Amino acid sequence: MFYIKLTGHEESIGIDIEAIHERNQRDSMMDVQRKLEILADAAKYDASCASSGTEKRDSSDGKGLGSTAPGMGICHSYAPDGRCISLLKVLLTNACNYDCLYCVNRTSSNVPRARFTIDEVVKLTLDFYRRNYIEGLFLSSGIIRSADYTMEQVVSVARSCARSITSAATFI
Ligand code: SF4
Repeated sequence: MFYIKLTGHEESIGIDIEAIHERNQRDSMMDVQRKLEILADAAKYDASCASSGTEKRDSSDGKGLGSTAPGMGICHSYAPDGRCISLLKVLLTNACNYDCLYCVNRTSSNVPRARFTIDEVVKLTLDFYRRNYIEGLFLSSGIIRSADYTMEQVVSVARSCARSITSAATFI
């Protein structure tokens, strides 16, 4: 069984979309390891998938609420049958057209940016899955181009992962 958790984002005011698209283009040239570092770290602020069974967390050191387990980008959630499962928790991109003031990934935030291609995040997920590091994917994203476009990208990842796995995929 393979689990994919899809999450949405609140929307705010859009600014300087052209500059953001240029930046996204540059970010897509980065190597996958570096993208994983940035996008797993950026995903830790989404506290809807709090890790269990990890070390005690402290808000200093970038290890606060929502941090992933020591294995980069791995968090825990519960399957419909109550089992605790490991998920690869990443963003498709931490670039965003919006500037929600509470969000570390807002467009005015001075953080390193990265963006996975669909193929990259699918390959990473399947590689981790086949090695038994994870049982599913927790994928979220900053808003690129438009909310609909972003959700299409996220759904494409889910579809590709599901197609590549022989057993039926479950979406939670
Ligand atoms: S990722 Fe973008 S849309 Fe989502 S909360 Fe952050 S700034 Fe707002």
